[in-house]
Amino acid sequence: MAEVYTGRFAPSPTGLLHAGSLVAALASWLDARDHGGRWLVRMEDVDTPRCVPGADQAILHQLARCGLTPDGPVLWQSQRGAAYEQALQHLVHQGWAYPCGCSRKDIESAQTVARHRAAVYPGTCREGLQGKPARAWRLNVQAVQKDLGLPAVTPWHDRRLGPQQQNVAEEVGDFVLRRADGLWAYQLAVVVDDAEQGITHVVRGQDLADNTARQMVLQRALGLPTPQYLHTPLVLGADGDKLSKQNGAGALDLSDPWATLAQAAQVLGLPAQAPLDQLLTQAQSDWRRFFFSRTD
Ligand code: GLU
Repeated sequence: MAEVYTGRFAPSPTGLLHAGSLVAALASWLDARDHGGRWLVRMEDVDTPRCVPGADQAILHQLARCGLTPDGPVLWQSQRGAAYEQALQHLVHQGWAYPCGCSRKDIESAQTVARHRAAVYPGTCREGLQGKPARAWRLNVQAVQKDLGLPAVTPWHDRRLGPQQQNVAEEVGDFVLRRADGLWAYQLAVVVDDAEQGITHVVRGQDLADNTARQMVLQRALGLPTPQYLHTPLVLGADGDKLSKQNGAGALDLSDPWATLAQAAQVLGLPAQAPLDQLLTQAQSDWRRFFFSRTD
């Protein structure tokens, strides 16, 4: 049986949705509808200190006001610790994850030596902790690639951006799976949960495109399927950076859901002229024709 298209929107409840996050939500919903597929929502509340109490329910309410309701139960990452632990243990068992005792300062001073590799973890603890207490857990990227016969450069295709690639070991290094404060890292949680929810298509903001190669290496290491990826254009704030709470993004104005949705549709290149009760239907029929022919 052919697999059913399953898409998702995965907000972090660190605040309410703003105009930028609604664009990603709408795009993932439209792409799922266009494929006759399912659309799910996942609350990415692993980074508990950054989560705002009640923001998860408020986000679901905002989505519902815009007519975007999930086709299945919402998954909360804060309840998924056992699955993440199991994934980590699998990686440890394979010899692909190791404890790291480096503090932020250790990493920074190692980086001063290898300045050209600024944001890259230098692999200090790969061969052992050298007496330091374990703090975080990291993926040994090169060990995974070598054992599984994967190329050093991970190629992938983005449905909007075209062919992409990244040498994860060189450009990122051995990335964190479990943080020094005990919290699960985004990369591990997202990969385990995309598989748990049967996600076949990831549609999300372009600021997250850079995580894709890391997630693909992890998918291979955990024996999980790789979804197709599509990264949507970002809404920029007044300073030209991605719209965020820091540069002026207010919560969505839901006193007028039509204007709010129409604005998000326009960012996606859709005409959005229909009245509220028909806006989503119109956007759905316009999606393939307008979104993929936009130039940005
Ligand atoms: N929770 C992430 C965010 O809100 C999205 C993760 C994803 O879509 O992969 O930025």
